[in-house]
Amino acid sequence: MAVRTHRHSHKAVVIGGSVAGLFAGNFLARQGWDVRIYERARESLASRGLGIASHGELEDLIVAAGATVPSPLGIDVTGRSAIDRHGETIARFDYPQQLAGWTGVFRSLSARFPADRYHSGWELSGIEPSGGRALARFSNGEAVEADLIVGADGFRSSVRAAMAPHVQPRYAGYVAWRGAVEEGALSDAFRAETVNQFCFCFPKGSEFIGYPVPGDDGSAELGRRRYNFLWYYPVAPGAGLTDLLTDARGVVHEYSIPPSLVRTEHIERLQADARDLLPTKFLEPFFAASHYLVQPIYDVESERIGFDNVALIGDAAFVARPHVGVGVLKAGQDARALAQCLARDASIAGALAAYDAERLPEGRASVAAGRHLGAFIERGLDGPWTDPSLDLRVEDIIRVSGRPVQKRQAAIGNAP
Ligand SMILES: Cc1cc2nc3c(=O)[nH]c(=O)nc-3n(C[C@H](O)[C@H](O)[C@H](O)COP(=O)(O)OP(=O)(O)OC[C@H]3O[C@@H](n4cnc5c(N)ncnc54)[C@H](O)[C@@H]3O)c2cc1C
Repeated sequence: MAVRTHRHSHKAVVIGGSVAGLFAGNFLARQGWDVRIYERARESLASRGLGIASHGELEDLIVAAGATVPSPLGIDVTGRSAIDRHGETIARFDYPQQLAGWTGVFRSLSARFPADRYHSGWELSGIEPSGGRALARFSNGEAVEADLIVGADGFRSSVRAAMAPHVQPRYAGYVAWRGAVEEGALSDAFRAETVNQFCFCFPKGSEFIGYPVPGDDGSAELGRRRYNFLWYYPVAPGAGLTDLLTDARGVVHEYSIPPSLVRTEHIERLQADARDLLPTKFLEPFFAASHYLVQPIYDVESERIGFDNVALIGDAAFVARPHVGVGVLKAGQDARALAQCLARDASIAGALAAYDAERLPEGRASVAAGRHLGAFIERGLDGPWTDPSLDLRVEDIIRVSGRPVQKRQAAIGNAP
């Protein structure tokens, strides 16, 4: 990307200092913008991520943002497979891919962005127009004026709430229970079986995925990595979800619940289901995990992501269900597209209109693809094969979810 520096005097405020915010901060800073990032969390976000499926383009984006690709970025796997309840292989797909750690990507983007321009513990409370510029107000009483506000504040974006309050996350009817285990704590037999594989199974109306990711220290060495698993597990909308999100003191958490507050009865039910439904080999990592994270799955579909001087990027703009595995990639693509539009167009409003036109179709396509891949779980079907009208075979699920979104439609029903 051509780096343009003609906007020296222009100031950007980025709300949210996770991957999307850091991508945007780095891209804009490279173009000469005076950028500051404001992140609500007081503590570092580095420890929060688990595994992400990575694509070649992610490396290109990290480099284009001026950051250093973590070495290694991830674990090389040779393929994907799906097994049945008894451990028999029901589908295979040779697909060399890197399975990265979210933390490595976050750390590398963070290392590139000037620490004195990253403000932790600042929560956006509102946005106001201010004489052709925009004013970001924070809950600590401060206000910052800027030529551009970038909303990189995730799926419950306050920036989106200010610009398009009617766009709300829509619960998909299931949650993801996630866990990770140090590989050193797992048996040699398990490691040997899973070493190069991204593995799927479909226990009664759900979907379970397991794959290795780099260790906490970034290590890709066998035995020092972690095994990451994710179980898409139906929880009824309404009372069912509210019950899961209600802690032992009766406090209802609106969108998700910290792992330590999940009630014991929910963990016990999950573990009982694991004993009944998971193929034997997955019981080992499942029960070795010290805790489980639960993340309800939501769709977010914006109608507009570029306003006069406010842009939405990453999960603030669109959230596709994680089956498509493109959240981090899309965050980087959005940030790059935004920076490119700003470099091309003389006016910020014109650049944001161009950004909106360029990225809306991609965002919509990724949400639609995620819905399609998760429809059988949402509808409580006992596997993707039970309703042919879904046009979704196990082969498609394991292939399609491994590809960047623009190739996905071509891949459905047309796998190599
Ligand atoms: C179960 C699951 C599995 C996933 N697997 C993958 C995968 O394999 N591959 C992949 O690419 N992606 C995956 N994702 C998606 C990926 O994690 C996200 O898409 C990605 O992290 C989006 O980054 P973001 O910066 O847009 O949002 P976030 O990471 O949500 O960051 C938003 C930031 O904004 C801050 N913030 C919020 N409100 C305010 C405010 N008012 N003021 C200031 N700051 C604020 C938050 O504290 C947060 O740090 C998965 C997601 C889930 C739930």
